[in-house]
Amino acid sequence: MFDWLVVGAGFAGAVLAERLASERGERVCVVDRRDHIGGNAYDELDAAGILIHRYGPHIFHTNSDAVFSHLSRFTRWRAYQHRVLARLADGMLVPMPINRTTVNRLHRLSLTTEAEVEDFFATRAEPVPVIRTSEDVVVSRVGRQLYETFFRGYTRKQWGLDPSELDRSVTARVPTRADDDDRYFTDTHQFMPADGYTAMFQRMLDHPNITVMTGTDYKAVRDTVPHRRLIWTGPVDEFFDHRYGVLPYRSLAFRHETHDQEWFQPVGTVNYPGEEVPWTRVSEYKHLTGQAHPKTSITYEYPSAEGDPYYPVPRPENAALYKKYEALADATPNVWFVGRLATYRYYNMDQVVAQALATFRRIEAAVPPHSAGGARHAAAGE
Ligand code: FAD
Ligand code: UDP
Repeated sequence: MFDWLVVGAGFAGAVLAERLASERGERVCVVDRRDHIGGNAYDELDAAGILIHRYGPHIFHTNSDAVFSHLSRFTRWRAYQHRVLARLADGMLVPMPINRTTVNRLHRLSLTTEAEVEDFFATRAEPVPVIRTSEDVVVSRVGRQLYETFFRGYTRKQWGLDPSELDRSVTARVPTRADDDDRYFTDTHQFMPADGYTAMFQRMLDHPNITVMTGTDYKAVRDTVPHRRLIWTGPVDEFFDHRYGVLPYRSLAFRHETHDQEWFQPVGTVNYPGEEVPWTRVSEYKHLTGQAHPKTSITYEYPSAEGDPYYPVPRPENAALYKKYEALADATPNVWFVGRLATYRYYNMDQVVAQALATFRRIEAAVPPHSAGGARHAAAGE
């Protein structure tokens, strides 16, 4: 008998499994339908011996000291600040997020102060009374031309929707800058796990109280692996057999390539905002990992409606449908729903870790550890 069955060996499942096993001394079984741990953050050596991310580039960044110090128990880190260039249809490469360099290069200007760049944005911005959609966010800040160059096509490819059909939160992930900071993220902690994500997950799950079964779907063990409680990190609508209909998730296809040259592109990721190519971005792992190798491996991302669920799709009708599932989840005893798919939130890795740690605190408050309960039950003759 396991105290917990954890469905999904990604950040949500692995962080909770470790906490339950090591802090509460409980017996935990972790299952994942994929043939590996790590969820979407899984990395592996490819045929050339280069460390790649099977599900696209994952860069760790957080402002949370608590999240960073928690993960630091399981990994050393390599400092890495991600830089992204946008490749325009004519081949020009400019920094993304839009910054002073982007504006100067694109418009052959030589703006030098932040005030000049802010003026440039202000003269083009089309303010709206309420910023509601992903189009509003960008057009109200920098105007239609920059919006169309950098956001409209990329977003239509990525989501299969126009930015006007998506919540503001989607494009609001990407700031606009008047200075020349060309980092993609500005968080206080920006690192890659020194030996990779999979090694970090291995250390997290390497505990005598934890049993890991990969290549195993929940349905295959639901009735055969006895457990008292469940942590669910898969899609929430799947848990309830799509009772209220299918919650939309956006998928991706990945094209991994190895090139017989040392470098493919100048930075970790090059975005392709135009609709003249079907992929959104190309990432080159050696920039992220610091690995030295005479060849280089890259990944193209092709957004798709079919395939594994990767992204919840933030828009009002989906939020309304999720609310119905959330009410069901809240009314389901002994099951905790955690992570990007189970809570239908467009979370980064650090946010999922924070959510898992918060869930652990809720469990601590609500459920006495089973060893104590077990002792009481044993005394009562159970
Ligand atoms: P997942 O990693 O999806 O894990 C859920 C697991 O549950 C999966 O392995 C799945 O196989 C398993 N599962 C589901 N249903 C079942 C079932 N019925 N039975 C058994 N197993 C099941 N975040 C960042 O912070 N930085 C980045 O740079 C970044 N880049 C990203 C790039 C891409 C292309 C994508 C898609 C995401 C990126 N993210 C990034 C987000 C990051 O991947 C997630 O925040 C994080 O991996 C979510 O962890 P999770 O445990 O919630 O879900
Ligand atoms: N985006 C865009 N152009 C870009 C980069 C991002 O239009 O060059 C939009 C797009 O809608 C994307 C969203 O901003 O889905 C968030 O970008 P981010 O890089 O955070 O996406 P993720 O890494 O989560 O795929």
